[in-house]
Amino acid sequence: LVRLRSRLARSQSSLGRGLLTVLARERLTEDDWEEIEETLLAADVGVAATTEIVERLRTQAMVLATASGEELRALLVRELTAVLGPDLDRSLAVDRHDGRPGVVLVVGVNGAGKTTTVGKIARVLVGDGRSVVLGAADTFRAAAADQLETWGERVGVLTVRGREGADPASVAFEAARTGVEAEVDTVVVDTAGRLHTKSGLMDELGKIKRVVEKQSPVTEVLLVLDATTGQNGVIQARVFTEAVDVTGIVLTKLDGTAKGGIVISVQRELGIPVKLIGLGEGADDLAPFEAEEFAEGLVG
Ligand code: GDP
Repeated sequence: LVRLRSRLARSQSSLGRGLLTVLARERLTEDDWEEIEETLLAADVGVAATTEIVERLRTQAMVLATASGEELRALLVRELTAVLGPDLDRSLAVDRHDGRPGVVLVVGVNGAGKTTTVGKIARVLVGDGRSVVLGAADTFRAAAADQLETWGERVGVLTVRGREGADPASVAFEAARTGVEAEVDTVVVDTAGRLHTKSGLMDELGKIKRVVEKQSPVTEVLLVLDATTGQNGVIQARVFTEAVDVTGIVLTKLDGTAKGGIVISVQRELGIPVKLIGLGEGADDLAPFEAEEFAEGLVG
């Protein structure tokens, strides 16, 4: 796994030099505070969280009167960590349950990075010594199953796929059945992300979950969101959280955005912990989310 903090600090996600320069000023003026606020907003931290963070920072700076830039930076990291929820349970439920594999459903709109994330997760699980089966339940694009199978081969795990246009739930069921028979630890299922009708999506995801659970318990439903879509992504995300009980969020493409603060908006607005983040297209570009490390990387 990548070292999150240094990777973030080097990526565009970092709030960077500008903010640090402001914090290092002798006495912070009203304009300086506004600049800090604008930097946080520009990074998609969101209005409510930004207001909260800046207010608390100002109060503490006032109490400290002579706070140095380094002290203010540390305070900012602490406030960001606090709004990120340092105590949220971000562990992945991937282990066997009642003698059956744990099933991880991966949902999200097309292009968010679902298939890539399934491949990366499989890599991490195999690296941890777990046995894994993949399910290619995105049957609407033949390329999606091919792409997943390639990941499976790369990681060394079996991919269960159906015909193009097959019922996604039947492929998911088949993947779970294969996992039960092979007595693997975890089955990870890639789903289709069409969003043409909300009720269609709800029906489909609900059906996949119900059908899979006839074989093996769904222990985790991960919603994959593209960090570069900003607030728009949050609105889309809500459709998924209404369709199925999402247990964790994977925020992808954080390597390609200056809006790393989206993590804060997403968590606050959806009330679901960010568990993993994607920092590139490669197999090892997935990191467990850790609030303080992320806040450090974000501040730069
Ligand atoms: P899906 O349609 O949701 O299954 O999305 P894919 O897994 O096919 O990913 C869409 C594109 O995003 C591909 O080109 C991936 O390589 C790319 N991608 C996925 N995750 C990341 C990430 O964390 N960072 C970057 N830079 N690209 C990513």
